[in-house]
Amino acid sequence: MLKTDLAIVGGGPAGMAAAVTASELGLKCILIDDNQRLGGQILSTYSLKTKKKFIEPEISEIEKLRSQLLDFKVKIISGVELWNVDHSRSLYLTDGNHNTKIDFNLLVVATGAYERAMPFDGWTLPGVITTGAAQRLIVNSGVVPGKRVLVSGRGPMILKCAAQLLESGVRIEALIEATPLLVLLFNGIKNSNHLGVRKTGQALKYYRILQKAGVPLLFGHAVVEAFGKESVEHVVTGKLDRYQPTRITNRHTWDVDGLCISNGLEPDNRICRLLKCKFVYDEVTETYLPLHSNMMQTNIPWLLIAGETAGIGGAAKALVEGKLAAIQAGVALGFTEQKSIVSIANRLIKQRRSLQLQSRAIEKSYIPAGTLMTAAHPRTIICRCEEISRETISNSIKSEAKSLRNIKMQTRVCMGLCQGRMCESFLHKEVKEITGKSIEPDELLLIRPPLKSIPLKVLADQNILDT
Ligand SMILES: Cc1cc2nc3c(=O)[nH]c(=O)nc-3n(C[C@H](O)[C@H](O)[C@H](O)COP(=O)(O)OP(=O)(O)OC[C@H]3O[C@@H](n4cnc5c(N)ncnc54)[C@H](O)[C@@H]3O)c2cc1C
Repeated sequence: MLKTDLAIVGGGPAGMAAAVTASELGLKCILIDDNQRLGGQILSTYSLKTKKKFIEPEISEIEKLRSQLLDFKVKIISGVELWNVDHSRSLYLTDGNHNTKIDFNLLVVATGAYERAMPFDGWTLPGVITTGAAQRLIVNSGVVPGKRVLVSGRGPMILKCAAQLLESGVRIEALIEATPLLVLLFNGIKNSNHLGVRKTGQALKYYRILQKAGVPLLFGHAVVEAFGKESVEHVVTGKLDRYQPTRITNRHTWDVDGLCISNGLEPDNRICRLLKCKFVYDEVTETYLPLHSNMMQTNIPWLLIAGETAGIGGAAKALVEGKLAAIQAGVALGFTEQKSIVSIANRLIKQRRSLQLQSRAIEKSYIPAGTLMTAAHPRTIICRCEEISRETISNSIKSEAKSLRNIKMQTRVCMGLCQGRMCESFLHKEVKEITGKSIEPDELLLIRPPLKSIPLKVLADQNILDT
């Protein structure tokens, strides 16, 4: 068992920035991550071999933080998963064999985000993977997801992934973006004061790489179906209709051996849900976020958040928020006086605001024709872990099921290995399409321990059952 002033879950930019700042203020802190290599998602899509044009500007600061962590002798526990936190301020970790319990005064949750997919017939076939998974394949094992690949979805992630795959020798059959070109251009110009030159320049750089290679760029289109004998062999795309979400025209079949999809990111704030934090719904990003102050304080006095957990916004925002959370922790535990850090905190809050406006401008620029469920038929699998179709879920919503919990109990949706990480947003959309009402934050499914699947022997450990 360990004890610390500050426990930080998540060793991405937010968690590392929090650990370094907290150590500078004199706090004893422990940084926990489930990967062996610190750096989070952004570093997992980058290696020393990555070409300069694909290296995000934040990488140098992230690399610097890694060496500072060693200088400050921050206790790092990597390769372990946090599977439970309780209100007696203890958290539980496992590497699959051993358990560690940590008692803390304050906790920073910086667990990042995961990718959203979209359901269509065949999205569960081998060969269909998310863009983040494709990037990690190339970087970590030099393996490409196919020789002839289609990249589809919404937002900047598909663009970078397609350019990176192309430079790795993959033939990109087409880039399929759900936002119509005119909508993207109009919204881009409308939001240009917040988008900033750097982000716009980055997007244009990737478009140029694809255009130069003659990759067809289809805007206002989406994947309608993927099929093949044992893995994906053909993908059907179609043109979406802005005014009739179910209308799909201009169908075209592509011969491929790989399909990469992404529909943006979903904040991973399940620890905050487990702890019954107060949540709010963010209409722009269509995500549920823990209510928090400018200093990253939630409504639970000992719980702070940082990075994508607090709302999707990129690595630069994550770095700033990690520093803010650490300063707040330093003040709360009496390691620094509020008046001595007010000017630094105000500068960081200002930076955070402008980065938030930038990421919202990106979000507001990509407005797809059609909805997340446009390509899903009644027979389409929505919950891939439990193999539950859209029809089963919609029948349950239309029956007497009064809450998400009822629907989950009736159908087993969100009960599988991924515990809803993949299908929960589809469920929310389906409820909205059928009832016309969005899910209120206090209606979200309850999250219970274990947060991630763990061996039974971990649960059976006497020390843990006694606590
Ligand atoms: C798949 C993917 C690809 C991306 N690609 C790019 C890109 O190419 N360029 C770009 O600019 N941005 C990219 N992003 C966004 C970028 O990663 C984030 O903006 C940035 O990393 C946010 O930092 P963070 O510290 O909030 O979270 P992260 O960097 O995600 O760090 C969170 C860390 O917490 C760990 N964690 C989560 N839950 C637990 C748990 N229960 N126990 C222990 N550890 C846990 C995670 O494994 C992760 O290491 C990508 C994001 C994703 C999800």
